[in-house]
Amino acid sequence: MANENKFPTEIVELPSKGYFYPKENPLSTGKVEIKYMTAKEEDILTSVNLIEQGIVLDVLLKELIVDKDIDLDWDAALVSETDVSWISVNSSKPGRKDNYSLLVHSTNTWAENHLNDENHKVITHLSNETSNIINRDISNAVHIDLHRWRYANIAKLEKSEPLIDAKNKMAACGDWCIKGRVEAAFRSGFDLANGMRHLIN
Ligand SMILES: Cc1cc2nc3c(=O)[nH]c(=O)nc-3n(C[C@H](O)[C@H](O)[C@H](O)COP(=O)(O)OP(=O)(O)OC[C@H]3O[C@@H](n4cnc5c(N)ncnc54)[C@H](O)[C@@H]3O)c2cc1C
Repeated sequence: MANENKFPTEIVELPSKGYFYPKENPLSTGKVEIKYMTAKEEDILTSVNLIEQGIVLDVLLKELIVDKDIDLDWDAALVSETDVSWISVNSSKPGRKDNYSLLVHSTNTWAENHLNDENHKVITHLSNETSNIINRDISNAVHIDLHRWRYANIAKLEKSEPLIDAKNKMAACGDWCIKGRVEAAFRSGFDLANGMRHLIN
């Protein structure tokens, strides 16, 4: 059959017959209209970048399914071989369903090389990279903001000891003592508490 966009499609019946989808989901009809594959979709299927990210089938299906309201989204993607290293669907976090939003991190190397670039250049480049990765144009997003996390990372440390100055009765902890992650912040606080306990006992 041909639809208004003039590309050939066919209606595929879902094995689930749509039983498990909520009524408002178009898949609850038990049918889905799919475009025939073209060279564009074959390029998606053979994209090393998408295969390595583990999202090749998601992107392919998104391209093939005619009804773009059908939601096949992933919540997060670790990205390689581009200037973007991480994309997460921020609105998938609990209590944030109302407005769809993405959080995108550049790679550390790209950030270091472009730390002082003008905001609009950084936004344009990373938006283009993101659009290519997710196969959707995000340049017309309602709101795009940029933040440079200048001090989020520290150089690699061989080892980390609790920072306790017993003489001056001072101590310090934080992710910066180990690595820029929540686990590191917890471990640093935990190690410091243990170190202080030994001193007190
Ligand atoms: C954009 C972004 C995304 C991240 N995503 C992840 C992730 O997905 N997974 C992950 O594991 N980690 C992530 N992190 C890292 C994680 O947030 C940090 O590792 C963690 O919050 C560090 O905890 P902390 O308690 O050491 O420091 P912080 O959370 O920074 O707490 C330090 C506190 O000290 C306060 N403070 C600073 N100076 C003073 C002062 N002079 N007087 C009084 N108070 C002061 C600050 O206001 C702050 O509240 C992310 C970080 C960023 C920036």
